[in-house]
Amino acid sequence: MDVNEHRIPFDLGVFRASRDTIIPRDYHPNGRSMAYEELPPGTQSVIVYALFTAKAADYYIRDEFTEIFLSRLQREYGQHFCYDNYRILRKEAAYHAGIGKIARNSILFSRHYGFNCKIDLMLSDLPCEDVAAPQEGDYRLEYCQNCIAPCVQTCPVNCRMNFDLFDWRHCSHHLGPAIQNPDLMCRACLTACPHSEALLKQVPQHLILNRFAVPRP
Ligand code: SF4
Ligand code: SF4
Repeated sequence: MDVNEHRIPFDLGVFRASRDTIIPRDYHPNGRSMAYEELPPGTQSVIVYALFTAKAADYYIRDEFTEIFLSRLQREYGQHFCYDNYRILRKEAAYHAGIGKIARNSILFSRHYGFNCKIDLMLSDLPCEDVAAPQEGDYRLEYCQNCIAPCVQTCPVNCRMNFDLFDWRHCSHHLGPAIQNPDLMCRACLTACPHSEALLKQVPQHLILNRFAVPRP
């Protein structure tokens, strides 16, 4: 298991940017999006990473890590890396990077951590020919095909989901009051999945307890 210097288990994948693999956010509440044509000039590669966390609202782990990771890469390798300000869809990028697949609850199921991770990405003008071609084919998680879907049945606000979260506004409304407290936020459709829980059990307990230890640079 890869563990970064902040003792957060992580996974990483890279794929070549193309018109087919860069998917803008067309439904983001702030209307932010970035199409392939809008990528910074010379962009060739998309670096996607999944950081382990078993909390719903550990976004600051992802955000702080991205800041640290990006400034370190720029310091060591120059201005070959940049951030998209969250304007490209993460789940689809993670799929193309080979990090995981999309599950019936519409969440990325990471190959190492199941639903217990947050994903982010950065762009680079360096080529990635040696690393990987984008993962293609069926983006849906195989486990879901013959599953009675406890993830769907357990949703407290009956969100409809089938590899897409059709009632995402209901979910967002339900999560809203607990957003400041990661311990209270709903993860019912994540923890109901036996495959995700099985992967969680493989993460050493001392790394789970250290998940908040991300110092500012
Ligand atoms: S509980 Fe079943 S349907 Fe839901 S994400 Fe897990 S494997 Fe897929
Ligand atoms: S996080 Fe909770 S409210 Fe949102 S879809 Fe999953 S189970 Fe439903």
